[in-house]
Amino acid sequence: MQQAINLIQSSENILILSHKNPDGDAIGSMLGSAEGLKSIGKKVKCFSKDIVPSVFDFLPEVSQIKNKINPEHQNLIVLLDCALFSRTGIDGIEDIVSSFDNLLIIDHHPKNKTECDNVKNCVEIIDHKTSSTAVLVFNLLKEMKINISKDIANCLLTGIFTDTGGFQHNNTDSESLQAAAEFMKKGSRVDKIAKNIFSTKSLAAIKLWGIALERIQTDPENGMAVSYINKSDMDNLGVKEEELMGLVNVINTISDAKFSLLLTESMNNKIKGSLRSEEYKGIDVSRIARSLGGGGHKLASGFEINNTDSSKSVEEIRKAILKNNL
Ligand code: 5GP
Ligand code: MN
Repeated sequence: MQQAINLIQSSENILILSHKNPDGDAIGSMLGSAEGLKSIGKKVKCFSKDIVPSVFDFLPEVSQIKNKINPEHQNLIVLLDCALFSRTGIDGIEDIVSSFDNLLIIDHHPKNKTECDNVKNCVEIIDHKTSSTAVLVFNLLKEMKINISKDIANCLLTGIFTDTGGFQHNNTDSESLQAAAEFMKKGSRVDKIAKNIFSTKSLAAIKLWGIALERIQTDPENGMAVSYINKSDMDNLGVKEEELMGLVNVINTISDAKFSLLLTESMNNKIKGSLRSEEYKGIDVSRIARSLGGGGHKLASGFEINNTDSSKSVEEIRKAILKNNL
């Protein structure tokens, strides 16, 4: 922590990055840390390769997250909710990092390699037992005696709220609830965050959820509950991919299934897989995700498969998952 503070203190210009397809923890942690660092006089820029889903439009200063990196020299890159360069999805990320003086990585995903080996001034704050990156950012800001404004509280509470599935997943611990209580004391409201994130769906999106739920198949042998959404399903109903956030968690409520999988055909000719399970079911879905080139947590993980030539059907991927991993 002290090494991280030293890096920040010696850096005037800071660029904050996160992973591709940013989620609430990535966005909340970026915006919360940007606000905190600006309050002590740092010049801060935030970048995301992919657009910020519109459910997060309620967050303060969300428009400061840009989709273009300004090539001007910066001192410090802060990489949040993602410890591996490949997860940023940014082409040439290694070159960008090497043009900076310092790198700080803050993340809560399990990992088996470090990017710090090839970077001169690099500090990692990584704890896979922490519910969310937002909690790690909160601890750092507190250690730096940075005042937690209502805006910072709203951003970081959104990160904790989304990564704990609205304080329902097994990563919900006393530390995240204590942090949430601190944020509420600053004026942040869990009910408002919940409403913005979970209760702002279009009728078309709910109908598409219905189609996906209708399509669920379960496999009694391995315990998988699987469904899928094609690009044409989204096009036909005019639903954006971001409106599928949370759907896999509904599939995961089937108590007889050991784990759930949602396959989504993305815009960029990729098939995205989202895997979920529950502690009592005794499955580590990150093992499956890793074997398919992805990663994540034991009970919530994901992967992406290139499908540029549209050669793979959802059915083929489903079979491949069964053959390789179970
Ligand atoms: P989701 O299914 O909500 O997109 O992702 C669930 C979890 O899996 C998140 O913790 C996320 O970081 C991780 N995850 C999702 N997709 C990928 C991926 O393509 N690669 C890696 N390494 N992790 C992923
Ligand atoms: Mn996270």
